[in-house]
Amino acid sequence: MTKAEIISIGSELTSGRNLDTNSAWLSRELAEHGIEVGWHTTIADDRAANLDCFAAASRRAGLVISTGGLGPTLDDLTREVLAELGGVPLEFHEPSWRHIEGIFRNRNRPLPDRNRVQAMFPKGSEVLFNARGTAPGVWMRLNNAMVAALPGPPREMVGMFHDEVAPRLASAGLARGVLVQRRIHTFGEGESAIEEKLADLTRRGHEPEVGITASDATITLRIFGKGKTRAEALAQIAPVEADIRQRLGNLVYGADEEELEQALADRLEQSHLTLATAEGVTGGLVAAMLDRADWKRRCYLGGIVAHGLPGEALAGLPETIRMGHGSRSSEAALAMARGARLALGADLGLATAGIASPAEAGPGKEPGQAWGALAWDGGESVWPHHWFASPAEVRSRTAKKAINQVRVHLLEHSA
Ligand code: AMP
Ligand code: MG
Repeated sequence: MTKAEIISIGSELTSGRNLDTNSAWLSRELAEHGIEVGWHTTIADDRAANLDCFAAASRRAGLVISTGGLGPTLDDLTREVLAELGGVPLEFHEPSWRHIEGIFRNRNRPLPDRNRVQAMFPKGSEVLFNARGTAPGVWMRLNNAMVAALPGPPREMVGMFHDEVAPRLASAGLARGVLVQRRIHTFGEGESAIEEKLADLTRRGHEPEVGITASDATITLRIFGKGKTRAEALAQIAPVEADIRQRLGNLVYGADEEELEQALADRLEQSHLTLATAEGVTGGLVAAMLDRADWKRRCYLGGIVAHGLPGEALAGLPETIRMGHGSRSSEAALAMARGARLALGADLGLATAGIASPAEAGPGKEPGQAWGALAWDGGESVWPHHWFASPAEVRSRTAKKAINQVRVHLLEHSA
């Protein structure tokens, strides 16, 4: 199978001044066309490095996509390098020149003579039209590879990939149909527990391929559907997604771009309930996450960051619990859940307490111990957790778990 190489050109990249985002984008995009990327190479605006790199890439890869080096200045070398390696002269392309002239005319700017190099192409190559800027791209055969040279600015590069490169990949027989990735997000159980429930799906060789990844206690299943068309790939995904959702039940909170906090926001809106928070260990993270969700109605009424005596008093933490169990305890979490609910007049009160860092630890209180609690009309629950993670992870995971517990509560208590 054809493998691709992506070459990012620019001294601003090799020096670390700018981040190479083009390669990552192109790799993801090529994967969707069924093309595996075998190499990412980043080079400076240097003639020898360019010659070397294009020569090697065009021998080991079947497709080479470069970005950058197509500007009008002396450090932009891609055209020259491609002509030299192809053993062909550069030729002037009249329509490209007229396009460049038109852009300068529209911007009311004088056209420097230097820009003529942007209308020069290796003899025998095809011009990739750039609808968003002055630098056209180049499409040509070099050694074993088809080479697409695109400009560096991401907006121009992305537009040209869709308009000019993708159709050529298909007609050159390089694209092996379409690969679509569907991500199913879960929260509440570890990677191995999830994998146990899905062992027959995640095993090597399963069609479609199902992968599993963990990120900050969120476990994500990736289903890779393949087909000649997008519809075919989606049809391969659908039954596997249904199977996963059926096996995992309430552990699944969303797919693709759907966030945990949005899943809760949607549930709250459907159940016509309101929520208030009081946060110890998470220090406002739960509030910030809930704030990020799109709310059609204001179901989240607000929260208290309960640090120190006045904050804890505002969250309804009684002196007896503070003295008896400490403000980092399961009892404190429950008291603050009740307190937040009362203080803000909400249907549900959610609270967190815990020990994120060694500085907060004490006798019987270890870093990573955390509690969440939920109070509602006629009931309450508390969930302990011991994270073995950094202080920042303890905070963010406790916040996520708190949000997830409310989501699951609503699912289990809805008629
Ligand atoms: P060039 O086509 O070399 O003139 O690129 C011009 C601009 O595009 C650079 O100054 C960067 O801002 C941007 N750029 C170039 N290469 C990349 C890349 N690999 N990733 C992200 N931005 C890039
Ligand atoms: Mg450059």
